[in-house]
Amino acid sequence: MKLLLIEDEPSVVSFIRRYLTEAGYDVSVALDGQSGLQMAMENNFQLIILDVMLPGMNGIAVCKELRKQQDATPILMLTALGSTENVVAGLDSGADDYLVKPFKQAELLARIRSLLRRTPDTTANTAPSNNTNSNVLKVADLELNLNTKSASRYGENIVLTATEYRLLEYMMRNPRRVLSRMEILENVWGIDFNMNTKVVDVYVNYLRKKVNRKEQPALIQTVVGMGYMLKEEE
Ligand code: CA
Repeated sequence: MKLLLIEDEPSVVSFIRRYLTEAGYDVSVALDGQSGLQMAMENNFQLIILDVMLPGMNGIAVCKELRKQQDATPILMLTALGSTENVVAGLDSGADDYLVKPFKQAELLARIRSLLRRTPDTTANTAPSNNTNSNVLKVADLELNLNTKSASRYGENIVLTATEYRLLEYMMRNPRRVLSRMEILENVWGIDFNMNTKVVDVYVNYLRKKVNRKEQPALIQTVVGMGYMLKEEE
């Protein structure tokens, strides 16, 4: 998942980049509006995080220009000002959502996920010819087809509910890494922080029953006291 961050404050750049990279995103950075606009037009990002106050061309102008160029990439605007006028100007310029600085890391991630959820996969739309292979995630003998939303192991189909699918997709995008219950909750269930992490245990168990079949090596591992990990048994 490729994201573009257009932001001029080094400390903000470094914390957003580190946090989103840890969350599994591939983050490119532009430090001013003009180069951000250029990068956005030359690449196919899934989402743009755009600061309003930028040297030279500001975020509002960048957003307007992208929309004028028929670029529909979701844009999350960052504003330090928080005044109603700025929020309205941002949304009027074509931004999809905004976040007022300072914000919590988890809130940034929640907004990003929400935007990505409500946007159809633009990569698939613009490049229908070469998306067949790139849309299959594979860990050991387990495969997840992102186009058909289906999973299989040793070529045998695994029937998943919508939540199980999202959980498996998240785990397959982060294989061989311990995922904490909170991390899984945030990434699969989204912004409802009142939710208990027990729900993660319940769904991991459902998924485990479907994925870890008796005669096959277990793929979904419990890491005691830490969380879960998708990897081949040793
Ligand atoms: Ca700024």
